[in-house]
Formats: sequence, C-alpha cells, structure tokens
Amino acid sequence: MTTSLAAEPFATAPLMSAAELQSPALDPATISIADIRDPALRPIAIKLLARERLSATDGMALFETRDLHSLGMLAGSVRLARHGRNAFYNINRHINYSNICALSCKFCEFHRKRGEEGAYEYSAEKIFEMADQAALAGATELHIVGGLHPWLPFNWYTDLLTHLRRRHPKLHLKCFTAIEIDHFSRIARLSVKEVLIALKQAGLGSMPGGGAEVFDDRVHDEVFKGKLRSDGWLDIHRTAHELGLRTNATILYGHIETRRERIEHLIKLRELQDAAPGFQCIIPLSFVPDGSELAHLPGPTGLEDIKMLAVSRLMLDNFPHVKAFWIMQTMKLSQVSLNFGVDDLDGTVVWYDITKREGGLGNRHQEQTVDNIRRLIVEAGYLPVERDTLYRRVERNPTGWHIA
Ligand code: SF4
Repeated sequence: MTTSLAAEPFATAPLMSAAELQSPALDPATISIADIRDPALRPIAIKLLARERLSATDGMALFETRDLHSLGMLAGSVRLARHGRNAFYNINRHINYSNICALSCKFCEFHRKRGEEGAYEYSAEKIFEMADQAALAGATELHIVGGLHPWLPFNWYTDLLTHLRRRHPKLHLKCFTAIEIDHFSRIARLSVKEVLIALKQAGLGSMPGGGAEVFDDRVHDEVFKGKLRSDGWLDIHRTAHELGLRTNATILYGHIETRRERIEHLIKLRELQDAAPGFQCIIPLSFVPDGSELAHLPGPTGLEDIKMLAVSRLMLDNFPHVKAFWIMQTMKLSQVSLNFGVDDLDGTVVWYDITKREGGLGNRHQEQTVDNIRRLIVEAGYLPVERDTLYRRVERNPTGWHIA
C-alpha cells in the first residue's frame, strides 16, 4: 500500500447537525387522537406530540396493532415534520464486483464458490466501463459491494477507488459494507480504523448499511454464523462516523427473527446514533427467500413490510431518513409506504445481483427510470426531489448536474 495512514486527520467538525438528529416538533393538526381506534396507540401519540422517545414496549404495540390507518397517521406525521411533502430519490448505479464469498449465509442467494455455476468476478476494467456508463447516464453515485472474496488483496480495492476517483471525480463512491471492511482488516492485517483511513484516502465517500441483518446472537448463530456479530458491525460504523464518513444502516427482516428482536436492533442503532452520529438513513430490507437456504420460509407479507417501515420511522427519532429499497419491497409497496413514514425511494439502480425475485439465476437488470419514480411520487401526493448520496438537492440542466 502506498498511502500514508498517519497523514489523514480525524474529523473535527460534527458529522451531523442538530436539525438532522433531533426529531422536530409535530404539527398537532397531523395527529387526531380521537380518530385512533386502537387504545394502545393513544399513549404513543401523546408521547410523540410531547417529543418523548418511544420504548421497546411502544415498538411492540406498534407492530401488534391492527389499526393500520393510525400507524400510518403517526409515522406520516413524523415524516411530514421532518421533510414536509418532499420525497427523495437518486440516480445511481449498483456494482456488485463479485459474488465469490468465503461465507455461506443461509439467507443469501447471491454467494458462490469459485468454479460454481453462476460465480463471477468483474475485472477492474469492467468496473471502469460500468462507471463510465453510469457517469454518461447522469448518475451521482456508485454503490459498490460484493462477497468476501478470498483472494483479492486489499490494494485491489484501494486501487479501484483511486482510479474511479481520478476518472469520475463527481461520482460519489459509496462502497463496502461493514462485513467487507472487517474482511479487509483481516486480509491486510490492519485495524478497522487503518482500513477506513486508507479507503477514505483512496476516494471512499460513505459506507452503505448492509450486513447488519439482525443484531441478535440467536439469529446470528442460526442464519449467518461466521459473519461479524452486532458489536463488530456497530464498532465499524462508529469508527467510520468518527473518521468523518457518513453511513447508512439496515435490518434484514422477515426470516427467523421475532418482532421483539427487530425492536432491539432498532434501539441499538438509535443508541449508536446518539453516541457517534453519522447514520443518514435506515433501510429495512424485506427478506426474499427465493434461491436461499431459507427458501422454505414464506417471507414477509405486504402488511409486515409496511409495519416495519413505519415502526422504523417512529423508533428511530434521531435518524433523518427512512428508505424503502424498492428491489426488496417492490415499487408498488414503496409508493404506498410514502404514507407510512418513508421519505426516500432510493434510485434507478439498473444492475443488481444480490437479490433477484426469480432466485439466483434470475434477471439482474433491475431498473427504474427517473420518469417512473417521479410519477409514482407525484401520484402519492408528494414532491419528487433528486438528492445526492449525502441528501443534498441535485439540480440538472442540459449540460449536467450540480448540488443546489
Ligand atoms: S450475505 Fe454477504 S457474507 Fe454472507 S454469504 Fe452472502 S455475500 Fe457472503
């Protein structure tokens, strides 16, 4: 490695503003306690109006309610206070550089061993070509993640970012989950902090939120044994935030976990955001069983998807954004979720290898056009706002784009 790790200063300015972290006062006109049919939700509405933090018991009441209308009213009220009628989207490209992985998580239909049918690894040149196409199409972000490749050395990743940064200085590089960062730390024999500093120096702009799954040892040992445990995932994101890198967070729900375990996961994220702010959004990922070792499970229903998104909005009072990743929830349900606390529909995506609704060899071309995203947002009664990775407003003209 040629980078000087000592040269990179620590972040000194606060990574997130108080306005981003604090839940704003709700407009009382957006909550009608008299209209709440489920009595268990009324004390929660009163807490929200008083800007009090919700407890795990409140979270369970939200999950167990059959009063979906009131759940939407509560989550929608918080969403309106934070973002008004704005609904965000971005123009991005996902690049999954390889599905060859040292692990075999049971919920994952993406991973392959080298030589196995469907195994692939992109060359750096292929990734540059994909980045060129993304830039030409007006993308503002590359989202790059892959399996834990057993043989690629750490400098392959830093060189990749360095070249991408030189080739496309405007493209934001949101790359590598905490699981990959942990893997790099092992193969490079560097601390997590040293790995993050080297990646940041090479051009890393922020980190995605994948790999969190469910912060629970029982679920870990049954479904993704061998992978980083919750403490490790949280420590890596804490270190990234301390180094001035914003990150996202996820929860993979709808397999063997309980609702109580989901609530505990959200509370751990909320606590880390209090202690070391830097999470921009929560992305609840709806488990898609097809092609995985858990294909016998039914996966979450539409009702459970909507509840998970709304509960995330209400429990995570210090997270600015809640994203429905339409690949997981479907675009139709993502549109509906704008009325259940969601303010971000993510992006155009284009190529996505990790989850395919038809299973492992299904169609990886999964694209939304900007026109379609905007149409769905407007139809739901919201204002489409193009954002960059850091949620800054993007403006376009015939010659390109800039941050407003
Ligand atoms: S979830 Fe990630 S770490 Fe686990 S098998 Fe799939 S690619 Fe590998």
